Amino acid sequence: MKPVNDVIGGLGTTIFTVMSALSVEHGAINLGQGFPDEDGPADVREAAARAAIEGPNQYPPMMGLPALRQAVAAHNRRFYGLDVDWQSQVLVTSGATEALTASLLALLRPGDEAVLIEPVYDSYLPIVQLAGAAARMVRLRSPDSAAAEWSLPEADLRAAFGPKTKLLVMNSPMNPTGKVFSDAELALIAELAIQHDAYVVCDEVYEHLVFSGGRHVPLMTLPGMAARTIRIGSAGKTFSLTGWKVGYLTGAADLIGAVARAHQFITFTTPPSLQAAVAHGLGKEDAYFAGLAAAMERKRDRLVAGLREVGFDVLPSQGTYFANVDFRPLWNEGTDVEFAMKLVREARVGSIPVSAFYPEDPPTHLVRFCFCKQDAVLDEAIARLRAFAGKNG
Ligand code: PMP
Ligand code: GLN
Repeated sequence: MKPVNDVIGGLGTTIFTVMSALSVEHGAINLGQGFPDEDGPADVREAAARAAIEGPNQYPPMMGLPALRQAVAAHNRRFYGLDVDWQSQVLVTSGATEALTASLLALLRPGDEAVLIEPVYDSYLPIVQLAGAAARMVRLRSPDSAAAEWSLPEADLRAAFGPKTKLLVMNSPMNPTGKVFSDAELALIAELAIQHDAYVVCDEVYEHLVFSGGRHVPLMTLPGMAARTIRIGSAGKTFSLTGWKVGYLTGAADLIGAVARAHQFITFTTPPSLQAAVAHGLGKEDAYFAGLAAAMERKRDRLVAGLREVGFDVLPSQGTYFANVDFRPLWNEGTDVEFAMKLVREARVGSIPVSAFYPEDPPTHLVRFCFCKQDAVLDEAIARLRAFAGKNG
């Protein structure tokens, strides 16, 4: 048999699927794969149900329902002051995953280079490779005694850019670190993108999950960046409806046109009932968006306090669904993969080994926990971890 093109399959099943299956198998509390255990706003779900009953349920426009594209444009203006033409500058996709895939397939050609930042979300590198481009990895410095936050090393980022650089992919607030990129880091990325005439694909799915009074700043709002930035959002995170897979992109008309031409051959369209509901959701009052972040921040605080008390060294989490721990104060006999396996079997708590976010030579002392769960679930997870620490301490 001729070999299949295993660019993607060669990487195996995603760590999220693997750890969720292990959590089910061991009756564990799944703090691995990032999904809320409560559904999003009832009015948004009711809008979807109504739209499905009333129809139409046939192919919507390839670019997305006008109502949703208008809502995305209005959301951009309301939260970030961005002036966006809904007809030419907004595209609806089946989740941020498809938005990222369509963007990378649209922009990259063999011979191009894409700058990726480690720890890197699992779907970016396989799609860069599928497009035939080469990845240049830049590794964030992890929090240590010298710096309290994950930080972007300027010299390494500068060195990663060159004549072949077509684009950089960034994710802020960032999975898995929980990092929110600072104004200085955004300015550096913008400076390098302009200097090297590169595009930036911004994965901003956690845009409404920034904590401690911080705010999300889209790179697109920086001077000179509107023409070269694609901004990606997802209803999954903004409305706690991860199974819906409704994503949206904003960008300059020529960029969105190119991405749409890839999108038309990937999924072509996204269920119209869900699009109508997300259009309704994006129009919700400011209190909804503030409340989402505040509720998640309380969950972060609850889990982080518990993890500290159990004895983990907890890294800062400024946003997203995630908190990472250095587990070595509790267990120092192996890798993060081994620890995550031990934890799911013996403590019956699922986590994600952070090495999964590094294609090569990963750090092996960190695991990621997801805190978008009900308080009682977080408390039970902490109780199980406490009992585990008691036995292993
Ligand atoms: N990007 C990041 C950083 C994510 O964490 C996720 C999923 N949680 C996605 C993209 C995918 O989003 P979607 O479910 O909308 O495809
Ligand atoms: N983004 C989710 C996470 O980081 C997982 C999504 C998936 O399973 N593909 O946990």
